[in-house]
Amino acid sequence: MKTVIILGDGMSDHPVKALDGKTPLMVAKKPHIDRIACEGACGLFKSIPDGMPNGSAVANLSVLGYDPRVCFSGRGTLEAASMGVELGAEDVAMRCNLLCIDDDGRIKNHSAGHISTEESHQLIADLDRELGGGSGDRPAKFHPGVSFRHVLSLPGGWASAEFDCAPPHDHVGEREVDLQPTAKSEGAAETVERLIQLQRDARELLENHPVNVIRRELGKDPANAMWVWSPGKRPTMQTFNDLYGKTGAVISAVDLVQGLGIYAGLEKIIVPGATGLYDTNYEGKAQAALDALERHDFVYVHVEATDEAGHERNLDLKIRCIEYLDDRITRTILDGIEARGYEARVAVLPDHPTPVETGAHASDPVPVAVMGVGIAPDGVDRYDEDAVIRGSLGLLEGDRFLRMALGE
Ligand SMILES: [Zn+2]
Repeated sequence: MKTVIILGDGMSDHPVKALDGKTPLMVAKKPHIDRIACEGACGLFKSIPDGMPNGSAVANLSVLGYDPRVCFSGRGTLEAASMGVELGAEDVAMRCNLLCIDDDGRIKNHSAGHISTEESHQLIADLDRELGGGSGDRPAKFHPGVSFRHVLSLPGGWASAEFDCAPPHDHVGEREVDLQPTAKSEGAAETVERLIQLQRDARELLENHPVNVIRRELGKDPANAMWVWSPGKRPTMQTFNDLYGKTGAVISAVDLVQGLGIYAGLEKIIVPGATGLYDTNYEGKAQAALDALERHDFVYVHVEATDEAGHERNLDLKIRCIEYLDDRITRTILDGIEARGYEARVAVLPDHPTPVETGAHASDPVPVAVMGVGIAPDGVDRYDEDAVIRGSLGLLEGDRFLRMALGE
């Protein structure tokens, strides 16, 4: 039997005043997603274990049947994997943003005004050449990613990952000096000292870098700072195939989710025009999912657009993104499975809520619906946060959702 999971990142929500207490899922027109609820079984899934950060890495690990309390070790390591950076078991890696600090020393934005990849690669190359290896027995390496998102690794076993950092997108408007990395253990003091020095040296190098001189002339924000956060060591994960005896593929525009897939031994499928935004290539992703089913038992289709709309607090856009997920992905996948005659289960869910009124992730359990081979309808006739509570699945935890979707 084959399984498709359709994941709308941040899709669930809390009651919205502007919708008279309804949620985007309750008002969006989504007949195909509702069909999964109607013909299948519904319930809630606790994707963020108690005490864990409510980020997409933790939540997507849970959906994929891994225990984030064991596997999660920072998003830098996950993004490194998707960028093709091989980390040694002792290497520490972390996310490294290029961002903009204003004249008062405060974070103006976490993205350096969404700097282009081409510009950022020049900056990262110069950072690596000037600051990277230099420090003898304490090497550091900059790895170029996309736009403002890069990775810094500290190879060779000298560094500790036991330190706290401030995710810059959560601290816009705050002062740089108040947000330095801090050691959680004595063993991390040297690492933290090196990182603070690196960030200081980077400020000097970037401030008047030719790329930034031009950006200022064009009225754009300069990428005048380098910012590290979410450190960790390479996660030790069993492959999906070892755990469940099935092969699979991940279709996502987001480095983080691609990285999870790589550590899980799933095929990473890149779809042209998949942007991670509302204008993503929905049809291309749906088609790629159907094609992947020809060679795999399992396909994970991740769509970021709903989460972005939530972060932007854009209610209309979030509703529209749910309708796109319904009409341009779910419909194609359901029709394609029928047309190709696959024995399959299809599940739909978010990884976590990203409520439009707060624009930030939440931790409460997410609504799930699964239809297909061997699943009896449970009387729930639509898919939303309230309707699924009456379903037969109850509250699922751990790997129970995934095993259910796989037909175990
Ligand atoms: Zn997410």
